[in-house]
Amino acid sequence: MQAVPSEFLAIDRKERANRPFFDLDLRSAEERTCDFNAVVIEFDPERAMVEAARCIHCPDPAPCMVACPTANDIPSAMWLIEQGKFVEAAAIYHKTSSLPEVCGRVCPHEALCQGSCVLNKHHTPVLCGELEAFCVDYERRTLGYSIPKPNASSGKKVAVIGAGPAGLGCADILVQKGHEVTIFESKPAPGGLLVYGIPNFKLDKDVWQEKWEEFEKAGVKFVPNTYIGKDKTIDQLFAEGFEAVFIGVGSEIDAKMEDTPGTDLPGVYEATDFLIRGNIPMEQLPENMKKPLELGRRVVVIGGGDTASDCLRTALRLGSEEVTCLYRRTENEMPGGKKDRKMARDEGAKYRFLTQPVKFIAGADGKLAAVECIEMKLGEPDAKGRRKPVPVEGSNFSIAADTAVLALGYWPDPIIGKTTPDLETYNWGLIKVQNKTTGATNRPGVFTGGDCATGPDLVVTAMVGGRKAGRAIDEYLKSK
Ligand SMILES: Cc1cc2nc3c(=O)[nH]c(=O)nc-3n(C[C@H](O)[C@H](O)[C@H](O)COP(=O)(O)OP(=O)(O)OC[C@H]3O[C@@H](n4cnc5c(N)ncnc54)[C@H](O)[C@@H]3O)c2cc1C
Repeated sequence: MQAVPSEFLAIDRKERANRPFFDLDLRSAEERTCDFNAVVIEFDPERAMVEAARCIHCPDPAPCMVACPTANDIPSAMWLIEQGKFVEAAAIYHKTSSLPEVCGRVCPHEALCQGSCVLNKHHTPVLCGELEAFCVDYERRTLGYSIPKPNASSGKKVAVIGAGPAGLGCADILVQKGHEVTIFESKPAPGGLLVYGIPNFKLDKDVWQEKWEEFEKAGVKFVPNTYIGKDKTIDQLFAEGFEAVFIGVGSEIDAKMEDTPGTDLPGVYEATDFLIRGNIPMEQLPENMKKPLELGRRVVVIGGGDTASDCLRTALRLGSEEVTCLYRRTENEMPGGKKDRKMARDEGAKYRFLTQPVKFIAGADGKLAAVECIEMKLGEPDAKGRRKPVPVEGSNFSIAADTAVLALGYWPDPIIGKTTPDLETYNWGLIKVQNKTTGATNRPGVFTGGDCATGPDLVVTAMVGGRKAGRAIDEYLKSK
């Protein structure tokens, strides 16, 4: 429900809808490709107030709120922002979200809140995503975020596996309920794909670091470099005294091009390896990744999702001169967001559609020198209704390339299912949820959420999955 009911607001909707729109300020493509800093220039207070005052306050429930996976009360936040009450607006976001400063930056707003704004019909939607980030940043800069006082200690211990958005959403709810929460994480630093995936130019790592410090202040314990399934099992966690376990291990194994020769050549990278080593300081890299990328002048990125856009933009920032995306369908079928693709194009990336690599070819030095491709055409629709790409016989050609990055999607790591007796899994290792509103699995006391339960999705949906499970774990512990 909206905290500020629209029927009490004395506003002229028509007049508001016709107020001028000033688009986001971005750093120029030339400037931003020289570093990894944020692309979007933050609002200042005056701009934020003007932008929020374009909201026409739809009757409850507003479409933006319905489209937001975490149901942020966006209209009430807009009302407070337009009056300059930024800290009060930030409090609205904290009520429903564990990561508002992150979601304000990385959510595909054009497909969620902004995409459902009624102003889309004849005008331009309110930039509610950027306003979310602005308020929470403002709060932190002026006051520092005060951690809500947790409930009295319950004396109960919960283990969270994985420090990504799902694990963090779950931990956030549980510490507030007074439980002792320990996050076990296989990598050296917390954050999941917020750190080891999403590049800095989309999410500044300082923003994440400040957020993480709040989790620590709230009492969340962190155990790094601990791979559950290898270093210890879920049953061992129960034996150590944890009374419930949340699995939030994501879905992070890169899809392979198994039938394509040459993917093992030096110069061919998987997207995760490429993004992590391209974006993260050496000291935060897992041991097996502590070597610099060897990047050539000509880079091809294979794939059509947001990860492909992130790889293209990372390669440009690392100094590659010719950066080209190869995609086997047309632009219309591309799963990645238009906004990221436009940014990549503006920064100099080229796109080659209806193109499928069939062989990675080595030069005299044994390293990648070219990619043999075949032209494709669109055939009949597949089960999901997307037209299938079909090779055009005899259309093979080669593209010179020193580096190729495979951004083909992600699979779950099956290790948790394999090492947890009787835990039900599906689709090669995703954890099966028995009850969608609680994230409960078939094993009593074991809950799950995020990409390891749904397959690759979004930061916000993973966080919502974790928060739901956090509330259900609290109920479970009370009922024990
Ligand atoms: C390159 C890239 C860019 C993206 N960009 C965006 C974007 O702009 N906007 C957006 O909304 N979404 C984006 N996504 C998707 C988003 O990052 C994920 O949907 C989200 O992070 C999933 O959260 P999660 O907590 O389920 O998993 P993750 O973020 O993957 O976190 C899982 C954590 O569990 C740890 N772990 C795994 N196995 C074990 C184990 N056995 N024991 C202990 N720890 C383990 C991992 O190391 C990791 O830290 C992007 C994804 C990628 C790959």
